Amino acid sequence: MSKVYLTGAGPGDIELMTVKALRLVKETDVIIYDRLINPDILKEAKDGCQFVYVGKEDSNHTLPQEEINEVIYQNALKHEHVVRLKGGDPLVFGRGGEEGIYLRERGIKFEFIPGITSAIAVPEYAGIPVTHRGITVSFRVVTGHESHNKGHSQIPWENYKTDDTIIFLMGLHRLKNITKKLIEIGKSKDYPIAVISRGTTKDEKTVVGTLDTIVELAKDLPTPALIVVGEVVRLREQLNWFEER
Ligand code: SAH
Repeated sequence: MSKVYLTGAGPGDIELMTVKALRLVKETDVIIYDRLINPDILKEAKDGCQFVYVGKEDSNHTLPQEEINEVIYQNALKHEHVVRLKGGDPLVFGRGGEEGIYLRERGIKFEFIPGITSAIAVPEYAGIPVTHRGITVSFRVVTGHESHNKGHSQIPWENYKTDDTIIFLMGLHRLKNITKKLIEIGKSKDYPIAVISRGTTKDEKTVVGTLDTIVELAKDLPTPALIVVGEVVRLREQLNWFEER
């Protein structure tokens, strides 16, 4: 009976993979992976392990999810042990739930293997804690790549007036719209915001600005990148450690 491991590979730094994910990578017959995966992870696989890439190098587009589901399923019919390797955590905008349902409906067993999500680890490497006593009592992780329904945003912007930390994933190309919306709901133009590119890797780059200035400051940053909005961004001045090692 085969099994599929829907596995989080962590945010980039290979040492931020879990012990369990690394063991599964070493044991597996086939690894189905996409764009966000640190390629060094694949070197850990055993001889004869097959690699199936389901992302396209030059664009943000991966295969349509239906096709990825089918690729995973077909591999589960052929191999005893399948690792579906995803960036960060498989269930944080990772579509791992859809893959699990697809497999379950076809009688294939699976396990979820949690990973360290970029949403928390990437700001952490940049010296930005997503919560901090006395500054913020909660944080939100939001998609910047929402599907628009009849021109209406699915994001409940009005709820974002509080001082929660907001972390936008997949939002770099919509940064202008995001800052505009936040100003529209009443945040000050001077409100702190950071964009962090290729976090936890040697190419990590962070720019810090305000809702008013960030679009210009971040315009040359490469993907993947995430956006952090909130007073916690100011703590980077004291907590930046990764770049100063
Ligand atoms: N499941 C993943 C997120 C998938 S969505 C996780 O838990 O981390 C993909 C988005 O994650 C990217 O568009 C980007 O916003 C963010 N991301 C992933 N890795 C990143 C990295 N190393 N640096 C900055 N952002 C990253």
